[in-house]
Amino acid sequence: MNASEIKSIIHEHGLHPNKALGQNFLISNAVRDRIIDTIGLIRADSVLEVGPGLGALTEPLTGAAGMVTAVEIDSGFCRFLAKHFSDRKNFRLVHADFLKASIEGSFTKIVSNLPYYCSSEILFKILQYDAPAAYLMLQKEMAERIVSGPGQKAYGALTVTLSLYYEPVILFSVPRQAFYPQPEVASSFLSLCRRGSLALKRDDIAIFHRLVKSAFWGRRKMIRTALSESPHLRAGREWAGRILDEAGINGRSRGEELGLDDYIALVRAYKKIRLNKKQDSWQDWIVKQ
Ligand code: SAM
Repeated sequence: MNASEIKSIIHEHGLHPNKALGQNFLISNAVRDRIIDTIGLIRADSVLEVGPGLGALTEPLTGAAGMVTAVEIDSGFCRFLAKHFSDRKNFRLVHADFLKASIEGSFTKIVSNLPYYCSSEILFKILQYDAPAAYLMLQKEMAERIVSGPGQKAYGALTVTLSLYYEPVILFSVPRQAFYPQPEVASSFLSLCRRGSLALKRDDIAIFHRLVKSAFWGRRKMIRTALSESPHLRAGREWAGRILDEAGINGRSRGEELGLDDYIALVRAYKKIRLNKKQDSWQDWIVKQ
């Protein structure tokens, strides 16, 4: 699909593209083909596509995968997609806000040219689907944030959280000209490959999220202060110090200097210290939100 084809679809179907919904359509066939080659779909794949738009990726996805479930927020686009793909038996359309919906099914791959206004929220939401892999078009800066490491400027809560579940790789960069309308920034295509096994038990993941949020909530603060003053925990200064000692982490370091292993050590220390106190459960320390 090139820009004039998109314009004529929009005109013919009386659609009203909405910039606020991050509607930048992929118009480069070369980039589309590279994406599909990279994903390497097989008939056994059940794909979840977030934001199919006018179907630039949906078309080749339905051509190669066993099943494609596409979630689109825009009702005009849904009308178009339902008609356009009506003869595809392996296409299921869900008209919903991906951030609010709970899509039924089990997916082997998640694919999206993400709407940039809510890409970090979508990334957190994707974790809920437990897919073995995700292939995502992102703003270049966001992709760099995801692959960055401790001590780097872009490193943040999203980096640490995703790294518990997935190994991220930037596969290639994509120029602004590959989209219509052109976004203000360049993009990168990124893969997330599920780690063989999670370093934490399922039950401990809630505390992992709270600890990571707390550490970056006080990004400029020393980790001891960030944990003890965090609105996401009820640790208190003395306990925060003991947890850090148990985890072998210097309380004067900052959240942005700690790697995934440090956060895992913090979760284990947190549980151990809380359980040693022989009070109800370490979960009492989680502030309900
Ligand atoms: N996949 C198409 C392509 O590559 O040309 C469109 C990509 S466009 C960058 C992002 C798409 O996500 C748009 O179709 C937009 O309407 C949709 N979208 C935005 N926010 C959404 C949300 N919260 N849930 C589902 N779809 C959303």
